[in-house]
Amino acid sequence: MCGIIGYLGEREATPVLLESLKRLEYRGYDSAGVAVLEAPKPGSPISTSITKSEAKVDDLIAKIQAIKPTGHLGIGHTRWATHGRPTYINAHPHTDCHGRIFVVHNGIIENFAELREELQKAGHEFTSETDTEVVPHLIEANYKGDFLAAVRAALKRIRGAYALAMFSTEDPELLIGARLNAPLVVGLGEQEFYIASDITAIIPYTKRVLVLGEGEVAAVTPLGAEVSTLDGTTVKPKLVHVDWDVSQAQKGGYPHFMLKEINEASEAVANAMRGRLTDDGSVTFREFALTDEELRRYREVLLLGMGTSRHAALIGEHAIEDWAGLPARAVDAAEFRYRRPTFGPDTLAVIITQSGETADTMVGLHQAKERGALTVAVTNVFASSAARDADGAIYLHAGPEIGVASSKTFLAHLVSLYLLALRLATVHGRISLERRQELVASLRAVPDQVRGILDREQEIKTLAHRYSKYRNFLYTGRGLGYPVALEGALKLKEISYVHAEGVTGGELKHGPIALLDAKFPVIAICTASPTAEKMVSNVHEIVARDAPVLALVTEGDDSLDGVATDRFVMPAAEEAASAILNSVMLQLFAYHVAVELGQDVDQPRNLAKSVTVE
Ligand code: GLU
Repeated sequence: MCGIIGYLGEREATPVLLESLKRLEYRGYDSAGVAVLEAPKPGSPISTSITKSEAKVDDLIAKIQAIKPTGHLGIGHTRWATHGRPTYINAHPHTDCHGRIFVVHNGIIENFAELREELQKAGHEFTSETDTEVVPHLIEANYKGDFLAAVRAALKRIRGAYALAMFSTEDPELLIGARLNAPLVVGLGEQEFYIASDITAIIPYTKRVLVLGEGEVAAVTPLGAEVSTLDGTTVKPKLVHVDWDVSQAQKGGYPHFMLKEINEASEAVANAMRGRLTDDGSVTFREFALTDEELRRYREVLLLGMGTSRHAALIGEHAIEDWAGLPARAVDAAEFRYRRPTFGPDTLAVIITQSGETADTMVGLHQAKERGALTVAVTNVFASSAARDADGAIYLHAGPEIGVASSKTFLAHLVSLYLLALRLATVHGRISLERRQELVASLRAVPDQVRGILDREQEIKTLAHRYSKYRNFLYTGRGLGYPVALEGALKLKEISYVHAEGVTGGELKHGPIALLDAKFPVIAICTASPTAEKMVSNVHEIVARDAPVLALVTEGDDSLDGVATDRFVMPAAEEAASAILNSVMLQLFAYHVAVELGQDVDQPRNLAKSVTVE
């Protein structure tokens, strides 16, 4: 995720681009850049001024003071790297071989490697490590005198996700925007036009925006904006009038970043899979590209994490054991370093950290390396300490998460660990092709199913309202439902300060059940799984102690009808997919309880987003 902006109008473009990038910085901030089509000087050819910084937008602003490009058309970008380190060379805008086509991009080009190879064979010279750079070269390859036609032809070849803003020196009064699986709006001002990732960028300039549909292209000239499909069919886009301020716009109109980020779950899940998974379950990770033979050397897997990441580790452990038949251990990273090490060079150590800076987990990473284990960081932050220090990295591609309590990144962690489990299962020959296909189909269905849960927010809010009167909660589940319960409980305590514990369904009778009475509710994960029947028995035991029960059940399963106090019906899914769906429901539940109690959801007391001390 990153922020893009394009401007065409009567004002000087540079200040508009820079101010907009500043407001977009919350979307990504590892490097930045702008390209401005210079106002033509009599007798000289049209030229473009590019300024880039490998730091934040403020650094770009400082650099540009010395250059002061003048012109009325330009594009800008603040980056959240997915392909290639956050360096000067990799910062956008990117250009073609002859410096005529300029592109900024948000998203991931899934088939960039094959396109790059094809273009290189045809003589195109690449300068960056990014996936984005194939776009200007592909447009160049398709250019036959009509920039818009070349853009359409190029985009037809691209798979993945993109929001793009582009211009060409060959057509100095044309600014083009296009989108697929990434957001883009066109702002309509007085004699001026904007293309932006979201309304935040342009809110001080205009409140009138066209919302582009999937696969649509906007061609903006001084005469207006025309929207069409890649086939060239004109479409009438939706015109929206917004009356948000900047802070509301950054939150996408949601009252909190956390709610916005929960609502990005579907996109985060899709992005974590993007370009990595084939229908028959072959998985490739760009920055963790071991051969099957190399990977087969590792006989056990350690998964290190803290907090939410530890819960993701527990789910990863389960999937790796179940699908790949490999011994796997999820470990509290802070405890790990003080225990006698019983692992070594045949161990794969998976380092799970959203920020890539978690101190406890970093210590574990270094210890694992010292003992010769192969380390891979699963993290959201490109070139973070964990990603740099580990032997390989699997990036979540979830975009920045601002709410302190993790939401979308937990889900992206689960997807990434499932992919790793599938990869290990395949190289160890422990999984049939049919089973792989089933798992892939189920994972591919998750983004839509997540959207289905998000659409039921009102139902969850009503439940949260009823349950917010309680001061203690027990969350319980079995199998993957157990870490889901732990994470559900953590979410509730983090943001609402209500006491909550997670226990396995089996453990209940060994102690925790003593706590239960009519004032001590239980959230029970009872969705379809090999242990669902046992969970049903547990719910009976809980109800017999008068405790209110909110049960998550799979559609069509009526075994808890009239037994649980409340049932929340989930769509049918593989247990692994259900872990994601159930987590989305529990995140929304915790969010609404916290809101009901008037807590500071985005910045809960005593917590920090990135825990950089042990
Ligand atoms: N994939 C592109 C890159 O890594 C764009 C990333 C973004 O959305 O910021 O440069």
